[in-house]
Amino acid sequence: MGNSSNKGFSTRAIHAGGQPDKETGAVMPPIYQTSTYVQSSPGEHKGYEYTRSHNPTRSRLEENLASIEQTSYALTTASGLSMIDLIMHMLPAGSKIISGDDVYGGTYRLFTTVFQDRHDFTFIDTTDLSAVKKVLEEGADLIWLESPTNPTLKISDIASIASLAKNTNTLSVVDNTFMSPYFQNPVVLGADIAYHSLTKFINGHSDVVGGAIMTNDETIYNKLFILQNSIGPCASPFDSWLVLRGIKTLGVRMQRHAENAQQIAEFLEKHSRIKKVIYPGLKSHPQHELAAAQMSGFGGMITFYLDGDIESARKVLERVKLFALAESLGGVESLIEHPAIMTHASVPKEVRESIGLYDNLIRLSVGIEDVEDLINDLRGALQ
Ligand SMILES: *Cc1c(COP(=O)(O)O)cnc(C)c1O
Repeated sequence: MGNSSNKGFSTRAIHAGGQPDKETGAVMPPIYQTSTYVQSSPGEHKGYEYTRSHNPTRSRLEENLASIEQTSYALTTASGLSMIDLIMHMLPAGSKIISGDDVYGGTYRLFTTVFQDRHDFTFIDTTDLSAVKKVLEEGADLIWLESPTNPTLKISDIASIASLAKNTNTLSVVDNTFMSPYFQNPVVLGADIAYHSLTKFINGHSDVVGGAIMTNDETIYNKLFILQNSIGPCASPFDSWLVLRGIKTLGVRMQRHAENAQQIAEFLEKHSRIKKVIYPGLKSHPQHELAAAQMSGFGGMITFYLDGDIESARKVLERVKLFALAESLGGVESLIEHPAIMTHASVPKEVRESIGLYDNLIRLSVGIEDVEDLINDLRGALQ
């Protein structure tokens, strides 16, 4: 991506992959809304044959993603889950996979209902370094980490786990969706692959579903590219363009998400109707220091336990006016949701409760509105 690779985050976010269009000089990248490309003679083309394999708008997005995550390669797919599907297909059948025990509900569902016959999955608490060491030493092909996790915001020690994984020849993947490349860079910390649902903070405007990986490993990139082309979950030119547009403001958005979330977390922590608040930026978070060491900010996600039952939780969710009751996260607008009923309904109740996912748990995706308005909205709903 030329001359901006040693620049600051927002400079890279705005310029990487953003070279003016060669034909017209257009400053904004064209949306190459085409499925195919003309050839001058059979097999002679300009590097583009068919949009499932290559598209110039998508190439610009991938160049940009590699730059902001500080890796050599990036690959995108039409959703976050379809990228996990490619990663699972990359491993030979019968592979041993270690996964965090409170990963995103859809990741858990994919592992346990689609790939459970192809691979052998073990779910563990990845915040427990000695437990991770033990399973890695018993032999594993891939470790899937989410940090912070969704929705209990547990933080795993990425650098230590990546280094243990290297020693045991285990591929390490970190789902970095909650932090975005602005606050955390798993590959820089030593992981093999940084994984993102582009749907969330990276796009940031709740109008695209997409997935990506970033890596320095050319072999992994090539394998996943071949799978992307063979299985076919390619990101569309228009979605690629929207994500590229969203990324330009990722730095300022993440700063504001985190500032707002810190204030809201502190407000909730003092509120009499709240039993417990989980936010990595609070001193009360069990891994606050680890979070401060491996992340450059604490993000926009807050989870809290209401002092009450499922009915009181339902009332709060119905009474908020600014926070929209909706799944997903990471957009400019604030969202509120109930994991046990909504995003994590696919996780069995016993499993949910074993990881702290009780019926009085509420998750906030704090947007970038004026924080006073958000706090007033919550104050009203909690009355
Ligand atoms: C949303 C999400 C995913 C899945 O991505 P989709 O784009 O919805 O397919 C994976 N991991 C995390 C942490 C997520 O929030």
